[in-house]
Amino acid sequence: MSAKGDMCYAWTTDAGINGECGGAVTSLLKYALTNKIVDAVLTVTKGVDIYDPLPAFITDPADLDKCSGSLHCGTLLLPKLIQKYMDGAKDMKIAVTVKGCDAKAMYELAKRNKINMDNIFMIGLNCGGSVTPFMARKMISEKYGVNPDSVFKEEIDKGQFIIEYTDAEGKHQHKGISIDELEAEGLGRRLNCQRCETKIPRQADIACGNWGVIGDKAGKATFVEICSEKGAALFDAASKAGVIEFCAPEAKGLEIRGKIESVMINMGLKNQKKQFAELGYGAKRLAFMEKETSRCLKCYTCIEQCPICSCTDCITKDPEIVAPGRIPPNFMFHMIRYAHVASSCINCGQCQELCPMDIPNALFMHAMQVETQELFGFGKPGYDMTLPALAYTEGKKDNGFVYIKMP
Ligand code: FAD
Ligand code: SF4
Ligand code: SF4
Ligand code: SF4
Repeated sequence: MSAKGDMCYAWTTDAGINGECGGAVTSLLKYALTNKIVDAVLTVTKGVDIYDPLPAFITDPADLDKCSGSLHCGTLLLPKLIQKYMDGAKDMKIAVTVKGCDAKAMYELAKRNKINMDNIFMIGLNCGGSVTPFMARKMISEKYGVNPDSVFKEEIDKGQFIIEYTDAEGKHQHKGISIDELEAEGLGRRLNCQRCETKIPRQADIACGNWGVIGDKAGKATFVEICSEKGAALFDAASKAGVIEFCAPEAKGLEIRGKIESVMINMGLKNQKKQFAELGYGAKRLAFMEKETSRCLKCYTCIEQCPICSCTDCITKDPEIVAPGRIPPNFMFHMIRYAHVASSCINCGQCQELCPMDIPNALFMHAMQVETQELFGFGKPGYDMTLPALAYTEGKKDNGFVYIKMP
């Protein structure tokens, strides 16, 4: 019997699954769907190319084979899709693969009663970071000197962004460049990923990755950490049914995994300090924010995509506060978002990556979140079900916070 905190190397016994590592994630998802533990799986599949990860809503277990493998060149955040298109899992049990930012978004949406966590099963994926499709193509072409369309596989391993591609003679080649080198030149992972400190998503029911898999199992097994009773029950049932096999992790592997996690967290914290300092402080920062947001088209993408922005009646649409028909909107449009979101921002990057005017929204918001946390002693958002600062405020029903019960 497994229990929370247990760790192992696991692999699929299903020959149809071509997993990123051991295929344990696909096998667990397939088992859950086949045995009606869940009604559907929400995961990610390759679109036209490796730079085009698409959300996949799956009800036929056979379709899961096509989704195995990891896609690092994208900016998807899955929980908001559950809120928007699956009625917040109100009446449907859904298993979903989650990176750290997805897991945090799930918790924050659940606090706002937008997602029913009782119906959610989260399979976590350790995450070293992701790259935008635009950046991936740009750096592969300019820095790697390779045609991005000839790349058939990419991965982030041992501190490098590695591509596998077909050269002009039709031969398979691979090339890796260190992430540090790429990022020193303004390339590499998304800026929010560079600041991220959620590397192993233990908020999920099971957290899976490749860190710590060494010896003869390297590349052939998934490192699994059980994070909840629900996770333990699924893992036990799947192994009893013979769809996954597992063994104890090597002691050295455990040590390596722990070291990598702490190095990555420290790197995230260091990047936070650096990027926040570049914003300046006080009036200087405010002036910079006003300047940057003066490009705003008021397209509402940042609001639509943010997992924290979830009010039915958005105050930015009140004509007495933000004048309609004016581009750019007055600064109050952004101030409202800062006030409502900052204490709960989970640094998912959506409001920045998808902004058509490249306004560094996530950087502004994440800086405010960390400073609010330090100033008032709030916990980090997205790690548990603790109510956000705005839960202490009274206001109109459904304005983004008062539907949370007062403590
Ligand atoms: P598989 O059986 O291949 O299943 C993988 C599942 O993940 C599939 O269902 C697939 O649809 C889904 N998926 C693919 N891409 C995404 C995505 N972008 N978002 C959500 N779901 C997705 N592990 C580490 O130990 N260290 C790392 O630094 C690390 N970085 C990662 C970065 C990213 C962006 C991703 C997606 C994964 C990362 N992983 C990392 C996890 C690792 O790549 C494997 O996903 C994990 O080990 C499970 O392997 P598997 O063979 O069991 O998975
Ligand atoms: Fe991964 Fe963190 Fe970036 Fe999300 S924000 S993709 S968890 S590194
Ligand atoms: Fe303005 Fe960018 Fe938000 Fe659109 S996404 S409303 S341009 S800040
Ligand atoms: Fe994500 Fe931006 Fe919302 Fe923060 S403000 S949670 S970075 S979309």
